[in-house]
Amino acid sequence: MRKTRIALAAAAAATALTLSACGGGGTGGGDGDGDSIRIGIKFDQPGLGFKDGENYTGFDVDVAKFVAQELGYSENQIEWVSAPSANRETMLQNNQVDMIFATYSITDSRKEVVDFAGPYFVAGQDLLVANDSDITGPEDLNERNLCSVTGSTSAQKVKDTYAEGTNLQELPGYAECVTQMSGGTIDAVTTDDIILAGLAAQPAYQGQFKVVGAPFSEENYGVGLPKGSDRCEAINEAITKMIEDGAWETALQTNTEGTGYEPNADTNPPTPAACS
Ligand code: GLU
Repeated sequence: MRKTRIALAAAAAATALTLSACGGGGTGGGDGDGDSIRIGIKFDQPGLGFKDGENYTGFDVDVAKFVAQELGYSENQIEWVSAPSANRETMLQNNQVDMIFATYSITDSRKEVVDFAGPYFVAGQDLLVANDSDITGPEDLNERNLCSVTGSTSAQKVKDTYAEGTNLQELPGYAECVTQMSGGTIDAVTTDDIILAGLAAQPAYQGQFKVVGAPFSEENYGVGLPKGSDRCEAINEAITKMIEDGAWETALQTNTEGTGYEPNADTNPPTPAACS
């Protein structure tokens, strides 16, 4: 076994190259405790998790890179995997990813099936509407067409609290919701303020939309982990280090620059909770 270690490492490196050349997204790349680490992120949320060719950018990506580094994985050992809202729990349960950094709110019902480290950020649910819209909050959504994403806390909150009289359409991603709104069939898109700010600032939408700016929930972004994972403590230590040395603030500023987004200073930066 020992003799073949170098050969194995070389083979694994070649595999990693092949995988990154075809854009990742698969379940390959080892068992997660070897040469690479599989990290689930969003691919379509500018400023948070965004795939542009072979480039991955955003605040979630920067936090994930910092944490991975602290766990002993360099950037080229990370395999980025697309983790849409509706698939996150299943991906962790089925061992398709090792960790998820994907605007993933810590909730009690999710905690029944996955573990969370963090939180590393606190956002709030808000609305994105046309610049000249008269919608100022969720109570104005009666008889309106609202778009959100399947499997998100955002869609769930609308169903639990504001559904009456609201026509909620659920799509796989927020970018698709904004495309629909741009086409005029949707009156408002709802999810976390930081996500909406990043989407609205896309060059194609300049001057079209505004974030209402009256958040009506608290979304604690956690690092999704398979149940029983032994990584929670180390990840919390890494998050604390990132906050203390200023890298967290820099990452947040860089990734929200030009969007007009102001993080809630009462809740940010958060202190990671105790691991259970
Ligand atoms: N943070 C919320 C959630 O975890 C909404 C954003 C998302 O869908 O990723 O459901």
